[in-house]
Amino acid sequence: MAPVIKLNNGLDMPQVGFGLWKVPNDVCAEVVYNAIKVGYRLFDGAADYGNEVECGQGIARAIKEGLVKREDLFIVSKLWNTFHDGDRVEPIVKKQLADWGIDYFDLYLIHFPVALEYVDPSVRYPPGWHYDGKSEIRPSKASIQETWTAMESLVDKGLAKSIGISNFQAQLIYDLLRYARIRPATLQIEHHPYLVQPELLKLAKKEGIAVTAYSSFGPASFQEFNMEHATKLTPLLEDETIKKIASKYEREPSQVLLRWATQRGLAIIPKSNSPSRMKANFESVNFDLSEEDIATISAMDRNIRFNQPSNYFPTEMLWIFG
Ligand code: NAD
Repeated sequence: MAPVIKLNNGLDMPQVGFGLWKVPNDVCAEVVYNAIKVGYRLFDGAADYGNEVECGQGIARAIKEGLVKREDLFIVSKLWNTFHDGDRVEPIVKKQLADWGIDYFDLYLIHFPVALEYVDPSVRYPPGWHYDGKSEIRPSKASIQETWTAMESLVDKGLAKSIGISNFQAQLIYDLLRYARIRPATLQIEHHPYLVQPELLKLAKKEGIAVTAYSSFGPASFQEFNMEHATKLTPLLEDETIKKIASKYEREPSQVLLRWATQRGLAIIPKSNSPSRMKANFESVNFDLSEEDIATISAMDRNIRFNQPSNYFPTEMLWIFG
């Protein structure tokens, strides 16, 4: 049985999911279909990934062929920054659902705690970070409270079964918990041995918020942005400590990095377009690391974040993650 995490609203979420960022449009339907065949049931999408139509085609094919039913799947999507104004939330969710060809999301997240001015989908979709599609950053006045209240109404209307947050730090979470009528079910964060964030994990646990780790292989996802850290640090998949632990268990370094997260209770959403890697990632829960090896990996922490807004625009908004 594939492991699940019990959310604070009583619903089950698969612990191992499939990430959809940078899955190219031309192969996306096939990749999603193959991932379902491998056994994945959770798919982690977003408006910003620009491939929700193709993701939907992949699941439609699997459902049509009788591999799965809709209720066997756990579809996650995210609210992009330009749709934070309270009255923009429901219309964009309805568009995203139509793109997927489904009538509810299992989980819908605020992608970033960053409100940007609305860009109509007829102008550009997905809109990205820049108002003009090039360089201009235009904040919107929507508070997190305004956005969260609109997120809550998605649950009331049956458009999302659970709602959650992503890329939030402690201060904002505490603030949100003051007024939340529906508490966030999950927090999705960058998490790998170079960015462990133990205090944030402790907070989430205490508050009953499940944590999903993204970019489990650290710098691997961010090399293309030419960031100093991402290109200079030893890639985690080639790190000697990780490789040594992997050979001890006769597993891949990738499986060690994923198991380090799941064994500590986190959900994971690795992405791969290759069927063999997909399978290896999915099967990473089939062995256990010793407590000592887990501690050795956790001690690699350097508090280095790769998913920085400064990858996408000048330093003017570096304050976002503190
Ligand atoms: P990842 O850590 O899953 O993958 C990083 C790179 O490693 C990719 O190039 C992938 O092809 C490769 N890879 C995958 N499996 C491998 C294996 N077994 N061996 C060797 N290489 C392998 O990175 P990611 O895409 O950054 O994160 C996973 C998912 O998390 C995304 O697809 C997305 O759904 C989500 N995500 C969310 C946010 C957010 O802001 N909420 C940000 C980044 C990613």
